[in-house]
Amino acid sequence: MFPLHFAPRAFDRLDVLCIGAHCDDIEIGCGGTLLALQRQYPRLRIHWLVLTSDPARRREALRSSEDLISSRARGQVLVHDLPDGRLPAHFEQVKSRIAEASAAVNPDWVLSHHGADRHQDHALVSAITWQIFRDHLIWEYEIPKYDADLGNPNAYVPLPAGVAQHKAESIMNVFATQRDKPWFKAENLLALMRLRGLECRAESGFAEGFHCRKLVFSPFVPDPSPETGEGAPAIVPSTPQARA
Ligand SMILES: [Zn+2]
Repeated sequence: MFPLHFAPRAFDRLDVLCIGAHCDDIEIGCGGTLLALQRQYPRLRIHWLVLTSDPARRREALRSSEDLISSRARGQVLVHDLPDGRLPAHFEQVKSRIAEASAAVNPDWVLSHHGADRHQDHALVSAITWQIFRDHLIWEYEIPKYDADLGNPNAYVPLPAGVAQHKAESIMNVFATQRDKPWFKAENLLALMRLRGLECRAESGFAEGFHCRKLVFSPFVPDPSPETGEGAPAIVPSTPQARA
C-alpha cells in the first residue's frame, strides 16, 4: 500500500485539534496516532478539547494528556465540565466550546468522533465538529463499546508495537474511575488496533482506523527544501493557505 504523508514543507507548524466528549475518548480513539506523530513532526502542536468531566475525571484527563503529549508538542488543553450522557440537552454550550477552540487554534487537522457512533454524546460532538469546521481536514476516530457501532474505516495510521502498548498501558494506568467498566481492558484496545493493523497491512500488526469523509489531494509537490534540495510527496489538507 502506497502510504501518504503530510508534506512537512507545507507547514511551518502542524496544528492538530483533538475533540472528545468524555475524558478518555481522545486517548482510546487516536492516542496511538498522537504518540506516533510526535516522533516524526518536530513542529507538531496538539490541542485537546474535552466537553464533559467531573473533578475526578478532569484530573485523569489532565494527567493523561501530560502522559501522551510531550511538553514540546503541547498546545491548548481544555477540559470542560458539561454532564456526561446529557450533551444533546446542552447543544448551545457544546457548539460554543468547539467554536471557541476553532477560533483559538485554527487547526490543520481535526480528530473527532465518528458520525455513525451511537453514543448520544459522541454523535452530537461529531455533528457539531462538521458544523464548525467548514474548511478543514477532519478524521473521525473509533470508540469500541457496547453499542456495537464500529464501521469500516477508510483511513489508517500504522503504529509501532511499542506505541500501541504505550497507549493501552497509559489508558489503563490513568483512568482509575473506569476500572469497573466491563470494556475497560487493555486487550480490548489492543484487539481493535490489531484488527485495523491487519486491514492496512501494518508492519507491526497494529494501527488505528479512522473515517475520512472528505480529502483534498494536491498533485503539486512543495518547493524543494533549501537545506536538502528534496521535495516530498504531498497530501495537503484544505487549509494550507493558513500556513503558507
Ligand atoms: Zn466517550
